[in-house]
Amino acid sequence: MAEPLLQRNVRVRRIIAVDQKTAQALGDPVRMQILEALAHKPMSAEELTKALASAGQKKAITTIRHHLDALKNAGLIETTKMVEVRGAVMKYYGPVVRVFDFDTPSGTDDIHSKLIQETSSKLLKILRSIQVDKRFLSGFEKNNVACPFCKGNHSREKAAMEILNYSLARAMEGGDYAGLLALGKEAR
Ligand SMILES: [Zn+2]
Repeated sequence: MAEPLLQRNVRVRRIIAVDQKTAQALGDPVRMQILEALAHKPMSAEELTKALASAGQKKAITTIRHHLDALKNAGLIETTKMVEVRGAVMKYYGPVVRVFDFDTPSGTDDIHSKLIQETSSKLLKILRSIQVDKRFLSGFEKNNVACPFCKGNHSREKAAMEILNYSLARAMEGGDYAGLLALGKEAR
């Protein structure tokens, strides 16, 4: 066999916690922006159309309604409030996922390798404590499908990742973390 023109190890550096249904629903930059906007406060289609326009994204309200339907069908937003306005029902939507619609600076993993190493050591302890608790696995093992590439079972990894993901969301959306961010602002 000929000498390879390139050979190097590529390692997994980040986990993107997205299933196919979610990826499909998010396959439009406007929908990412809608989730970002709704993370600030629940809005109706009308309010959202105005908010997006003032953020430089001018779209017809019918287009916004279509995107809201797609996001709702994918389970990414939910109705938070319904009010009657002049005989019509106005719905407000809130997101159940948090997206951060901007790029991660390249080289983040190099610059912060020490912090990443320390954090991953702490996370390994947490992962161990999750794997010790068997209850959470059952839900994942029920619809476990053998991996077409290794015939193995990745349901435990998925289960652990989801527990971490939900926990991270709860921690970051909580008041204590908001307090931490406020402190960070003062320090700068
Ligand atoms: Zn596999």
